[in-house]
Amino acid sequence: MARIVMKFGGTSMAGMERIRNVAARVKHVVSQGNEVAVVVSAMAGETDRLVGFCREASALYDPAEYDVVVAAGEQITSGLLAMTLKAMGVDARSWLGWQLPIHTIESHAKARVESIETDALLAAMASGQVAVIPGFQGMMEDGRVSTLGRGGSDTSAVAVAAAIGADRCDIYTDVDGVYTTDPRIVARARKLDMVTYEEMLELASVGAKVLQTRSVGLAMKEGVRVQVLSSFDDPTQDDLPGTLIVSEEELEESKMERQLITGIAHDKNEAKIILTRVPDRPGAVASIFSPLAEASINVDMIIQNDSKDKEETDVTFTVPRADLARSVDLLESLKDQIGFYRIITDVEVAKISVVGVGMRSHAGVAATMFKTLADRGINIEAISTSEIKVSVLIDEDETELAVRVLHTAYGLDADAPAA
Ligand code: ADP
Ligand code: ASP
Ligand code: MG
Repeated sequence: MARIVMKFGGTSMAGMERIRNVAARVKHVVSQGNEVAVVVSAMAGETDRLVGFCREASALYDPAEYDVVVAAGEQITSGLLAMTLKAMGVDARSWLGWQLPIHTIESHAKARVESIETDALLAAMASGQVAVIPGFQGMMEDGRVSTLGRGGSDTSAVAVAAAIGADRCDIYTDVDGVYTTDPRIVARARKLDMVTYEEMLELASVGAKVLQTRSVGLAMKEGVRVQVLSSFDDPTQDDLPGTLIVSEEELEESKMERQLITGIAHDKNEAKIILTRVPDRPGAVASIFSPLAEASINVDMIIQNDSKDKEETDVTFTVPRADLARSVDLLESLKDQIGFYRIITDVEVAKISVVGVGMRSHAGVAATMFKTLADRGINIEAISTSEIKVSVLIDEDETELAVRVLHTAYGLDADAPAA
């Protein structure tokens, strides 16, 4: 017998037929004698719909009320799944975020899980009852409903798994694992049997939304065993082929052949800002980025172009698209202090990243990336790197082409011989 957390995403919960399929899968896992907690997302599209209502209600909506609205999607699916399980003869009940409770901290709309009370949950599970928990939601210190940021049900599942000491956290979604790149963009993407926490963390943070970044960080910190699986396979099939997130040592032990590059991701959620003719003197760059940091705006890529006369410079950087208007307002208000001439913005950009721990020991990964893109006439507007990642900013319209040609260039195509 094992204690298992099963998480089902939006597409898996979209409509009663799919919920019945999910219930059948849960029933199968319960019938093998396991204790089960299920974490569910809202039906696909539902959270977007609810966010749309908030925007319509007020451009500057109150984040605490936003949480009340958007947490509702998961309340519906958790009740429906518990009902469906009961109708199939499986004892089950829903536990809303505030009922457990799942304590969260920091800010509404992007709250962080601090702790989960598990006594009642574990007692119910030990009695054979399936616990159905709405993902994405929690409760602030003052008792108000909170949500964990988009895609946050993955993090709910990992947090529940860590809190109850689960043997496994199975993330069921609409693809059958983690691929070398988004399989919806590159048909020849290859499924990975295993991927390390570190690489998955980096891939998620640069746009591979198959897992929310925070869920991977939490799983790594708490040692939660995470598996990504398809919810569309036969619900009674054992040993589904998925992707296991493992430690570096486990991967070494498995003797799996390792590619130089593990995966490629793209992200269309950034916007580019150029400040022209910034005075080229000590402190100028700090006068731009310190106020942005104080406003909790995350700056990602940065480049500074020397001007010919060396007295002025253009500074280019990216911020999350959602923070663009706020960034521009803030910079405009500091125009005299910073001393720039003009702000130019561009939202039609995409960040393409290649990730792999192999980069640590092999030179030339970035050079291959630049040459491959240049051969296709794709212009690079900014570059950033980490120890295991190289990212470039390009025109949004060239996203698919760039991902495809890089996938081939690094030998990742499913029908290509290993590089
Ligand atoms: P869920 O609703 O189950 O949480 P998501 O839509 O959040 O599902 O995540 C699954 C999607 O992630 C897939 O449909 C796929 O398009 C996308 N995706 C992006 N990168 C990858 C990748 N490297 N491997 C697998 N899926 C990926
Ligand atoms: N329903 C939420 C969202 O769409 C949370 C999730 O599905 O993970 O962002
Ligand atoms: Mg998701």
